[in-house]
Amino acid sequence: KVTASIITIGDELLIGQTIDTNSAWMAQQLNGMGIWVQRRVAVGDIKEAILEALDEESASADIILITGGLGPTADDITKPTLLEYFGGTMVQHEPTLQRLMQLFESRGLPILQRNIDQALVPDSCTVLMNHHGLAPGMWFEKGGKVFVSMPGVPHEMKGIMTDHVLPRLQEQFDTKAVLHQTLLTSGMGESFVAEKLLAFEAQLPEHIKLAYLPSYGLLKLRLTAHGEDKVSTAAELKLRFQEMEALLKDIAVYDEDISMGEVLGRYLKTKGKTVGTAESCTGGYIAHSITAVAGSSAYYNGSVVTYSNAMKTKLLGVKEATLATYGAVSEETVREMAAGALKVLNTDYAIAVSGIMGPDGGTPEKPVGTVWIAAGSADNIVTVKYRLMYDRERNIQMTAIYAMNELRKL
Ligand code: ATP
Ligand code: MG
Repeated sequence: KVTASIITIGDELLIGQTIDTNSAWMAQQLNGMGIWVQRRVAVGDIKEAILEALDEESASADIILITGGLGPTADDITKPTLLEYFGGTMVQHEPTLQRLMQLFESRGLPILQRNIDQALVPDSCTVLMNHHGLAPGMWFEKGGKVFVSMPGVPHEMKGIMTDHVLPRLQEQFDTKAVLHQTLLTSGMGESFVAEKLLAFEAQLPEHIKLAYLPSYGLLKLRLTAHGEDKVSTAAELKLRFQEMEALLKDIAVYDEDISMGEVLGRYLKTKGKTVGTAESCTGGYIAHSITAVAGSSAYYNGSVVTYSNAMKTKLLGVKEATLATYGAVSEETVREMAAGALKVLNTDYAIAVSGIMGPDGGTPEKPVGTVWIAAGSADNIVTVKYRLMYDRERNIQMTAIYAMNELRKL
């Protein structure tokens, strides 16, 4: 089994100022090509801590991936530390220096010595050109182990991984096939799903594993297959996946691990329809979820955020009598909000939400967590009520997921 460790460097990771998303992404990539991530370690910008982590991780892993601490500021000390660890001298990397000068010139900025120093690399490494930023990646080999150092900026790290690291690892290591496929579901808790899948799970072979990954409003079911050969492993995984999907067809949302905004986008693109949103309690979170997807302008017209009753009336044409009789959080109100959005935003479909996200504001009849959702077209608007149980932030996120899913179900 080929094993890897991931070392992330930066004080900001240890104090919780930055969430380490790099190692999650890297672990997914390594896993996808059959490399087992045995450990993920975060250390501060401290020479001794970095050296210790390098020693410890290389004692057991074949591959050590490192991110962070390559910047031009004094707190970034990864490079001198690597020089000390691997030996050699610092040399100028010409292509990086050229790129650096071009970038600064085109922006009309003076080049500082500290920027020029970013083109310095230990001559004990193979340089991995950074086409997405300045600091290049560095590939070292020592004692039969591979060490790769990359910048901490997530998109730069991803670029260097994709351009250089993954292809090289693939070449250098004889990896077995590890394949994943994830089913997104919504509307049933994990314990109930587990009951439904009891027999299915019991007859899964040893080399195929099922993982339950609950997230806000969605339950992800990931099947992982290990095998010698990619083609036959993929075929086996596909069969099992279809079997699982059939058992869960009532709650299945999508057969790929993508966001709900992306699911909705693909659905609307396939149908060639447009959507608009009328948001009260989510304050634009649904709009954000939809527009976080590249290309959403093809099917998304916009949102009307009406937080107050007055704005619901003024901007969406919700009748004052409706608000007075049933309240802002009611089936009647979201129905009129959706109808108003269809007109104002001139779309085929609309999604409307109104609810009480907490922590205050509930009543005995409408406790905190009560949400009404409407979704549909001019001739068919569906409404549904939820009672959410979480904190404000999660209630908002779940409302957005449920609302988008409601439209997708049509
Ligand atoms: P560059 O040389 O391009 O400046 P760097 O290697 O110096 O990159 P850092 O200065 O350590 O990187 O971090 C740059 C940015 O990337 C910071 O905003 C930091 O919060 C973020 N970052 C660093 N490590 C991680 C990580 N593990 N996950 C997510 N973001 C990270
Ligand atoms: Mg740093």
